[in-house]
Amino acid sequence: MKKWNLVIDVDRCMDCNDCFLADKDEFTGNDFPPYSVAQPWSGHRWMNIMRKERGQYPLVQVAYLPTPCLHCDDAPCIRDSPPGTIYKRADGLVIIDPVKAEGHPEIVNTCPYEVIYWNEEARVAQKCTGCAHLIDDGWLNTRCSQVCPTEAIRLVLADDAEMTSLVAAEGLEVLRPELAAKPRVYYKNLHLWTKAFIAGSVVFSDTDECGEGATAAVSLDGQKIGETTADNYGDFYVDGLEPGGEYTLTVAAAGYASLSQTLKLAQSLNVGRLVLQR
Ligand code: SF4
Repeated sequence: MKKWNLVIDVDRCMDCNDCFLADKDEFTGNDFPPYSVAQPWSGHRWMNIMRKERGQYPLVQVAYLPTPCLHCDDAPCIRDSPPGTIYKRADGLVIIDPVKAEGHPEIVNTCPYEVIYWNEEARVAQKCTGCAHLIDDGWLNTRCSQVCPTEAIRLVLADDAEMTSLVAAEGLEVLRPELAAKPRVYYKNLHLWTKAFIAGSVVFSDTDECGEGATAAVSLDGQKIGETTADNYGDFYVDGLEPGGEYTLTVAAAGYASLSQTLKLAQSLNVGRLVLQR
């Protein structure tokens, strides 16, 4: 059976907040029984865009992670909430029943992804519904996927085999797979959020020119795991490294002595200027 999935490309999100605002436009002040009562005017972020700085000046990048409810197939919220208050629809969407869940603030703490909010006025826990009321009306988009100007958010109707193929073809990942919650929200380019880079700026000592074309290679336990070429400013980024590892960075260019250093990588790191000598 085909079910709904969201595919979110971290590299395409530019933090414009159109998705966040579309969610507000849809749900603030509007009841959609049997799926949700009105979202309050403030305090809720059913589509929460998280933000992270990577690196240090001047080699800095930013990453944005749009985070709705992940509509998990093995949902901890369903497991840990009072029976019947949260349920999964046959099409994959996870719904907090606004009637049965009334008066149960403890539901907020059952989600390890922290996407459930408490509505004090209605006395009910709330979250992204996957726009279930629109899906029931035949929509093929959620409000967030419909408005995203960079097409960072896609709503995909697929069976398990089709999703497995898409995951393999596009290198999709889920958030915190160690939870084994089986989210139905998949991320592309998630390394921009979960992994780290080593960056630097290469300079040729004899000409004082930017080290365009120099190679920067990163190895772990003697095995090369990443390599890139410095751009016309001499800058390079070797990305996708697991934080916490001890890496060896080697910078080389034809006609120059190579430079090596070993780095304990807690987070994305700009090693600064690397001056290559003839
Ligand atoms: Fe439940 Fe949280 Fe998973 Fe959504 S992301 S289904 S609220 S456990």
